[in-house]
Amino acid sequence: MSKVLIIGAGGVARVAAFKCAQQPDIFSSIMIASRTKSKCDTIARDIKQKYDVDIETAAIDAEDVPALVTLIKSFQPKLVVHLALPYQDLTIMDACLEAGVHYMDTANYEPKEEAKFEYKWQWAYQEKFKKAGLLALLGCGFDPGVTSIFTARAAKHHFDEIHYLDIVDCNAGDHGKAFATNFNPEINIREITQKGKYYENGEWIETEPQEIKKVLNYPNIGARDSYLIYHEELESLVKNYPTLKRARFWMTFGQEYLTHLRVIENIGMSRIDPVMYKGVPVIPLEFLKEVLPNPGELGENYSGHTSIGCRIKGIKDGEEKTYYIWNNCSHQKAYEETGTQGVSYTTGVPAMIGAKMILTGEWSGEGVFNVEEFNPDPFLNELAERGLPWNEESNIDLEL
Ligand code: NDP
Repeated sequence: MSKVLIIGAGGVARVAAFKCAQQPDIFSSIMIASRTKSKCDTIARDIKQKYDVDIETAAIDAEDVPALVTLIKSFQPKLVVHLALPYQDLTIMDACLEAGVHYMDTANYEPKEEAKFEYKWQWAYQEKFKKAGLLALLGCGFDPGVTSIFTARAAKHHFDEIHYLDIVDCNAGDHGKAFATNFNPEINIREITQKGKYYENGEWIETEPQEIKKVLNYPNIGARDSYLIYHEELESLVKNYPTLKRARFWMTFGQEYLTHLRVIENIGMSRIDPVMYKGVPVIPLEFLKEVLPNPGELGENYSGHTSIGCRIKGIKDGEEKTYYIWNNCSHQKAYEETGTQGVSYTTGVPAMIGAKMILTGEWSGEGVFNVEEFNPDPFLNELAERGLPWNEESNIDLEL
């Protein structure tokens, strides 16, 4: 039915391409374009072997707007699904505007020279996309993405007012490596070494990195140390659900991971300013990424589950109510289906579904949108069907 152009060829793009290829009636033609064409070719080869679907591939520098426009115009997709890095959000949005196609991503824009993510840069494109009659859908992975759609379901079906939101993200998997990140190491380490931040009573409160810790219980996993960090969907959820009195994000980290992270910071390897090495400027964190395990290749011996969800307190029919909605995903099952691990899977599947919502017209509009602004029901039906079944419970102890 529609052509789609996927940009990026990492673990997330691999999963999204596999899931698109499973539905040729929706995604009639797929191209994967990325900086290193051989990585696109590997994904295309594996999809051909598994599903007998042909995927086109191309080399592209996603920071080069004219090159992007030429590529988009020659392939003529209806939608560009950006699964490269957050640094390229704005150049790809510019190219989509110029070529007249819809845009979607899974992570908000981050300037390379400063570890800081905010929606302001992308929200500033509102008028441009409206005027062009195009849709830009921001943050359609798991978190951001499904966590915001879980919140939209809670608001639509379970509450008159949402007051307290805690997004809880647990990776209880074991990949057998001393230290590895589950998605792009550079983006991941930038995110985790930032200060924490949460919203309470109309204000944003900053904390030191990993300053606030709680032990939370996760379904079918058990108790895990969970740390308050800042995560981008908090910004749009606080804006779109003004009844929120508090919104926080928790992520689990093991002691081994935190020790490695502390050492990386202490020895200067998380720096994002260039240092001169043998006369060549080198950014320590970019170099570190090259020597760490590739997150897309962690899958083979990865055991255990992820568990990501929303714990919500609010009012329904004048009564206080608690509600928990979550998905557990098995790393091994993700690997068996797509050749990569659960974190790439939990991001790539929602990315495919977001693309499907746009291509089928289930989600439509002109301008820049966050996922919670659309009807959560068709998306969540698909999520359960396409490999990420979810669960919900009401009136339980949220531990928070
Ligand atoms: P990877 O690092 O594995 O893949 C990134 C890909 O982007 C690589 O193929 C890389 O090419 C390509 N790329 C980088 N720079 C450029 C460029 N200038 N032009 C073209 N291609 C480029 O990352 P992941 O697959 O793990 O993650 C992909 C995205 O998903 C990231 O933005 C990440 O933040 C986001 N994410 C979102 C989550 C969510 O739940 N919302 C969770 C996890 C990730 P090369 O191979 O040449 O380096």
